Amino acid sequence: MQKSIERIAGDSEGVSYEFPVFRFGGTDKAASSAYLQAALHAGELPGVVSIDALMPMLEKAEAEGRIKGNITIVPQANPIGRAQYHFGEHQGRFHLGTRTNFNRGFPLLAAPDVELLPDTTLGTADQRLKSRLLQLSIGHDIVLDLHCDDEGLAYLYVHTSLWPAMADCAAAMGVDAVVLWDEDTDGTFEGASITPYLKVPAEVARFDRRVATTVEYRGILDVDGALAGADAEGLYRLLVARGVVLDQALSTSGSFAGLVAPLENIDMMPAPRAGAVLYKVKPGDRVAKGALLATIVHAPGEAGGRTQVFAPQAGIILTRRSRRIIRAGEDLLKLVGDSKSADARSGTLED
Ligand SMILES: [Zn+2]
Repeated sequence: MQKSIERIAGDSEGVSYEFPVFRFGGTDKAASSAYLQAALHAGELPGVVSIDALMPMLEKAEAEGRIKGNITIVPQANPIGRAQYHFGEHQGRFHLGTRTNFNRGFPLLAAPDVELLPDTTLGTADQRLKSRLLQLSIGHDIVLDLHCDDEGLAYLYVHTSLWPAMADCAAAMGVDAVVLWDEDTDGTFEGASITPYLKVPAEVARFDRRVATTVEYRGILDVDGALAGADAEGLYRLLVARGVVLDQALSTSGSFAGLVAPLENIDMMPAPRAGAVLYKVKPGDRVAKGALLATIVHAPGEAGGRTQVFAPQAGIILTRRSRRIIRAGEDLLKLVGDSKSADARSGTLED
């Protein structure tokens, strides 16, 4: 395993950022290669600790000559966001300098060719970081971007072109759900990882062996040793299932039995009023149409000071907010409905 340090120039003199990259060299050129990164949204740490738990497993495999494909690992992909604190609160989702979401604005290349990456010399630091992360990842057969939600189940976003071919990965990782999407106009890292392959010949795209996914490892507070260990085992099983790592002692994962739904089935449930949220449901709950989801206390102690929010259709609660203060119009939760949402928001991955 080799460690190297990446450096990203800051936007002013005397400021620069750095992050480590770990590379395991595979012994078989024909084997699939893998790229894993975590904490692109810099405060989302379940993936960071799962990589911390995965590394000794890979080092053991390397010592035993079982690493077949190249593996590149970036445990903390966003040194800019990692350093952003505003009045004591960590701000890892948006770049404070540009107000741009760290997981938007990645270049959507016409082909998987790093020569097509835009020149970011005169861009902003976050653009340089995004370009470099894409450069590090392009060319790998398997690209995993580890995030987490507010409070939620473990789930994957997957482009429709990779499903059901990626069902073995979902099973290996032991996630609860898969959300399928088919258009990214905002430039998420996942979108930038799969879009270049949508426009090239099938023999280049190789969707049978390609993996690109945003992994949502539950909620932001689910930074936990036992979960990290289980998630590391899931990542390891995926690498074995796809032939990146050889491990004959590992049994196959079986078929994926979790929930699979298109993005358009998700109801985000914007809050009708601002106030304190009293949730009636939690991630994993199955709800019927018309079931009470939450009560917003917007005028405490007053008649009519509470507003209830009901399920527009039957489905499963995928996520909810981690904080209980809400503004009118902010999303209360993600309900994966049994059919298309009446206010389906196309495209955007809300991760
Ligand atoms: Zn995220």
